[in-house]
Amino acid sequence: MKLIIVGAPGAGKGTMSEELVKKYNFPHISTGDMFRDHLARKTELGLTAKGYMDRGELVPDSLTIQLVKERLTRPDCKDGYLLDGFPRNEAQAEFFMNMLEETNLGLDAVLYLDVDFDKLIKRITGRRICKECKSVYHIEFSPSKEEGICDNCGGELYQRADDTEEALKQRLTAYSAETMPVINFFEKLGYVRHVNANQSIEKVTEDMFKSLEENN
Ligand code: ADP
Ligand code: AMP
Repeated sequence: MKLIIVGAPGAGKGTMSEELVKKYNFPHISTGDMFRDHLARKTELGLTAKGYMDRGELVPDSLTIQLVKERLTRPDCKDGYLLDGFPRNEAQAEFFMNMLEETNLGLDAVLYLDVDFDKLIKRITGRRICKECKSVYHIEFSPSKEEGICDNCGGELYQRADDTEEALKQRLTAYSAETMPVINFFEKLGYVRHVNANQSIEKVTEDMFKSLEENN
C-alpha cells in the first residue's frame, strides 16, 4: 500500500499512522519526525529547521524536498510507504508528482483526515510523545497507563515545543493557506479518501480502514 496522510495539525495523522503501520507494515515517513530527529542530533539541518518549527512556519522547500527525496528513494519504499506531513504546499506537490512520473514509486490513495479546527487546541496541548519510539498519547483522550511513561517501550513522554496555542495559530494559518490547496489538487486527480476525524480514535480508525477498502 502506498499512501499519503493529510490533515490539520492535531487531526490524528500520527495516531492513524500507528494503526496503518500495524496493518501494512510499511515505512512511516513523517517529515516532522525527521526534522525533530535531526534536531535531537543537533545536525545543521535540525538547527536550521528549529526556528521555523517553533514559530509554526513551514521549513523551506529546498531543505524539505532534499530530505524526502533521499528517504523515498531507499529500497524499503518500493513495496509500500506512508507519507505523513508531505507534500504540504504546491511546490512540494509538484516535486512529488514529478517523482511519481520519473520513478515507479506509485501512489494508491491520499487519506484526508477532515477535522473541525475548534477540536485542535485541546488535542494539541494535551499531546504527549514518547522520546524513544515516538508513540502518540493524549493526557485525556489516549492516556498512557502510567503517567509520563510509554506503554510500548517504557520511554519518557514529552511535550513538543510547538504544541502551544500560539504556535498552533500559525500552523493553522500555514495549513489553510498552503496545504489545503494541495488537498484540492489531489482531489481533482481522484486520489482523496475523506475520513471524518472529529470522532473517537476508534471510530476514525474504523472509518479510515473502510475508506481504503472502497474501490475508487
Ligand atoms: P497529527 O499527527 O495530525 O498532528 P496526532 O495523531 O499526533 O495528530 O494527534 C494529536 C493529539 O490528539 C494526540 O495527543 C492524539 O492522542 C490525539 N488524538 C488523535 N486522534 C484523536 C481523536 N480522533 N480524538 C481525540 N483525540 C485524538
Ligand atoms: P508535524 O510533525 O507534521 O506537525 O510538523 C512539525 C513542523 O515541522 C511543521 O510545523 C513545520 O515547521 C515542519 N515541517 C514538517 N513537514 C514539513 C513540510 N513538508 N514542509 C515544511 N515544513 C515541514
